[in-house]
Amino acid sequence: MVKVHDKYFEPYLKEATIRARVGEIGAHISADYSDKKPLLIGILNGSFVFAADLFRSLTIDAEISFIKLASYKGTSTTGHVVTAIGLEEQLAGRHIIIVEDIIDTGKTLHSFLLEVHNRQAASVAIATFLTKPAALRYDVKADYCAFEIEDKFVVGYGLDYDGYGRNLPDLHMIREEG
Ligand code: 5GP
Ligand code: MG
Repeated sequence: MVKVHDKYFEPYLKEATIRARVGEIGAHISADYSDKKPLLIGILNGSFVFAADLFRSLTIDAEISFIKLASYKGTSTTGHVVTAIGLEEQLAGRHIIIVEDIIDTGKTLHSFLLEVHNRQAASVAIATFLTKPAALRYDVKADYCAFEIEDKFVVGYGLDYDGYGRNLPDLHMIREEG
């Protein structure tokens, strides 16, 4: 059991289990993209650990870059606009694999996918470390997902609770009260 800020978390997925599963996904991607020289785009901050492990498990030519997403409650019809900060690569004609830590409601990725499509990528896929199927509210589907988990808050392996907990090698799940 670990304490992050005021909450307690219990080990949920061990480091070795994660490593094995990420290796499987890397093998799938290597097979699917053998002649495509994909560009992986990791979404900071949460995806940096998964992205580093996934990228090193690839056995094909591939590039990686990272972005941050800024959300605005703007005047658009959706009331929610997402802008990529720091994306310098040309996406036109490229095979893009977006790398996320977790798809919760799917809101963040839904907006970013529109931007990638607008930039005329040849193809766009999503690789996520985690999904919470029970929480999904937007039409976003992961092409590669390491683990589906219950709708509870997790930290570790890059995911934080208010800034801390990212460096835990195991994924931890919040302990139920009482
Ligand atoms: P979405 O836009 O899919 O609702 O939210 C995705 C983002 O919410 C993730 O990239 C992550 O930053 C955050 N998030 C969602 N669920 C969790 C969770 O269980 N733990 C942590 N640490 N972050 C989460
Ligand atoms: Mg995130």
